[in-house]
Amino acid sequence: MPDFCDVAVPVPLDMAFTYRVPDGLTPVVGGRVLVPFRQQRMMGIVVELHDRKPKVATKNVLNVVDPTPVLDDQLLRLGRWIADYYLAPIGEVFRTMLPLTAEFKRVIGYRIIEQGDMALHLAGVSGSSARSQRTPEEQAIEFRVLDYLAASDGAQVREQTLRSAVGASRKILDGMVRKNWIVRQDLSTQQEATRTIKVAVLKSAEGKLNANQRSIVETVVSAGGRVPVEALQSLDVPRTTLGTLVRRGAIELVEEPADFSVSRTKPRPQPFEFDFTPAQKSALACLRERVESRRFSGMLLHGVTGSGKTAVYLAGMRSVLEAGRSAILLVPEIGLTPAVAADLHQIFGDEVAILHSALSDKERAQQWHRIKRGEARMVVGTRSAVFAPVGDLALIIVDEEHDSSYKQEETPRYHARDVAVMRAKMSNAAVVLGSATPSLESYYNATKNKYALIELPDRVEKRSLPEVEIVDMRLEFQETGREQVISRKLAEEIHQRLDRKEQVLVLLNRRGYSPVVLCRTCGKKLECKNCAIALTHHKREHKMVCHYCGYTAPVPKACVHCGSEYVYFLGTGSEKLEELLHGMFPQARIARLDRDTVRGHEDFERTLNALNEGELDIVVGTQMIAKGHDIHGVTLVGVVGADVALGLPDFRAAERTFQLLTQVAGRAGRGQSPGKVILQTYFQDHYAVQYAAKHDFIGFYEKELRFRSWMHYPPYSALANVLVRSDSLDDALKWSGALGKWFNETRHEGVRVLGPAAAPIMRLKRDYRYHFVLKSPSREKLNTTLRSMLNYAAQQKIPRTQVIVDVDAIWLM
Ligand SMILES: [Zn+2]
Ligand SMILES: [Zn+2]
Repeated sequence: MPDFCDVAVPVPLDMAFTYRVPDGLTPVVGGRVLVPFRQQRMMGIVVELHDRKPKVATKNVLNVVDPTPVLDDQLLRLGRWIADYYLAPIGEVFRTMLPLTAEFKRVIGYRIIEQGDMALHLAGVSGSSARSQRTPEEQAIEFRVLDYLAASDGAQVREQTLRSAVGASRKILDGMVRKNWIVRQDLSTQQEATRTIKVAVLKSAEGKLNANQRSIVETVVSAGGRVPVEALQSLDVPRTTLGTLVRRGAIELVEEPADFSVSRTKPRPQPFEFDFTPAQKSALACLRERVESRRFSGMLLHGVTGSGKTAVYLAGMRSVLEAGRSAILLVPEIGLTPAVAADLHQIFGDEVAILHSALSDKERAQQWHRIKRGEARMVVGTRSAVFAPVGDLALIIVDEEHDSSYKQEETPRYHARDVAVMRAKMSNAAVVLGSATPSLESYYNATKNKYALIELPDRVEKRSLPEVEIVDMRLEFQETGREQVISRKLAEEIHQRLDRKEQVLVLLNRRGYSPVVLCRTCGKKLECKNCAIALTHHKREHKMVCHYCGYTAPVPKACVHCGSEYVYFLGTGSEKLEELLHGMFPQARIARLDRDTVRGHEDFERTLNALNEGELDIVVGTQMIAKGHDIHGVTLVGVVGADVALGLPDFRAAERTFQLLTQVAGRAGRGQSPGKVILQTYFQDHYAVQYAAKHDFIGFYEKELRFRSWMHYPPYSALANVLVRSDSLDDALKWSGALGKWFNETRHEGVRVLGPAAAPIMRLKRDYRYHFVLKSPSREKLNTTLRSMLNYAAQQKIPRTQVIVDVDAIWLM
């Protein structure tokens, strides 16, 4: 065994740390070890074993967690690439790739002891002590903790339970421990000793078997080759039969953690028939051919809304499954509803693992182990599913590849689409990027032959794309003399649909009731305490809410700045739009879909189902309603202020608006009836609006590409946003000034540096924010510059967490 190992620990530092391997421990590269780091113990990933004695004193590895690698060579390589490309600390990258935190959470428990019992008893008799320095609320909580612990008969109760059950904070519990009322214990070690079960694994079905033996072997075979021993006990055979099979080498018994689901029965995948159009057939043939070549190959599947891209993905994945290999399908968050999951189980049986954000840490770890063991070779999930530990990867599909939810907005700031392409490269696999509105970057790559371009130009069943009518809201204002939310044209069209018992979607990409509260006396807006952002009025909750940090404040009766009573609530959000529609169409059944009404996938699906069952007439919503869901009865889509984004200082504003308008228009007329879209706008001449109205992706693409070329934006330049933040304005100014000076003095050739400038949102979550935008035609030069900048920042003692490097940033706000 080598003497040393290098370990990547999850800390914001761009390096691995060397530890000594004590006798008796055998760490493996790609496996986890427990190591001391500063005052803590941490879980890290071994990246190298070696005998090079470091110059500084080294500490010992405390324990080996995994006897075999949890990250194989390919995933280790992928992690290193991410750390390098996105300038992210390697330990934090590996932590993101491994959803196994649940296995090692520290669990703290409490138990009541004698003095606590006494205190509880006395409190019941005499009430609280008058000399106490605690507030009445704190005393009340202490009493509830004691009561709760007493009721559990001296058993350990987890801290988490006490927090949620009686609202006890760590501070209160600490105080109670000091008073000797309760004792604290670390339960983690008890939890780590996982219960295991025996699983029978088929090794060979050959040789002569008697009836009892055959019955066992057949059960194991029909369960896919592995079954818990417990499940075999329900068979009517002597217990010794299994032992005989094990001795003969037909069956092997292995221990597995009991918490991780082992499939008991394996429903056979359903026969899978699609009635494909010729375009779908040729797309599928191309995909299969590329998968079979076992070489890296990228495809961009550009199909208009309703052209049946999903059916092509699923058929492609089925052929991968039938060939005994693995595939990953990435979908945007909102796409993974329970109904979709049910469909996937129909098609792939027990071979599918679904990874969505509603999973608990423990469930996520269970799915991860199923995939790692090879039980689930079809993986469907959101962003981080790109790291699924599948073996023999043949195909990765990125559905709605333009969707911004693929970019992680915290360290490591990776883009799952780009990681998918790199992973496919490293695995000699095929990658498919699909969208009705591909990102500029992907389409550009396709035109440069980096990807094969496959088009699905028509909707299935010869349905036509909806007719789009633009309503100029400036004219509407001139003609009616009033600021309208719903134009006369849109109101009239909604009336017609309601008369014909057809359904309507109305998009307003802004939640809440009123987005701005303004004082007419001093002219100031009511802003968040932590952010330079106006608070939004939420009427039903009777609160003012910051949509960036979650801060809430009471609804003001007077101006908080000058005390004037003339406060005005301005503008319209989805909550107010719903109310307006109720007023205009009192008979209509109306529902709203936004982050205030949708807390989980179930809420979303319930409303979609009601719409599909014809129980709703109008659905109002934010961009949530724009994403690929097939709704049959909708014949009218109204767009109310979807072009708000065009006013934002962000070079992707036009692209985002075009995508949103095209996607929401795609919801109209997918069933038997043709659809219509009414697009209200203040920017009626803007090319994003004009091309979306004509369903002209290529027209938009070419125009936008010229703009990007003039401005040296992606895809013509690699771009990074460098954000300097601090809750102290002085520090933020000092640090951004120092970096600005450094950029000026060092003059990196071939890299343009804009800034420092105040970020468009100058204060966010208490931090003051300044930023730089770096652009370069050479990604190598860009990353070299960024790396030296980070080194300089470290020399200047600017904390690594306060300088955020966002490579390929998609938001510059
Ligand atoms: Zn005022
Ligand atoms: Zn805020």
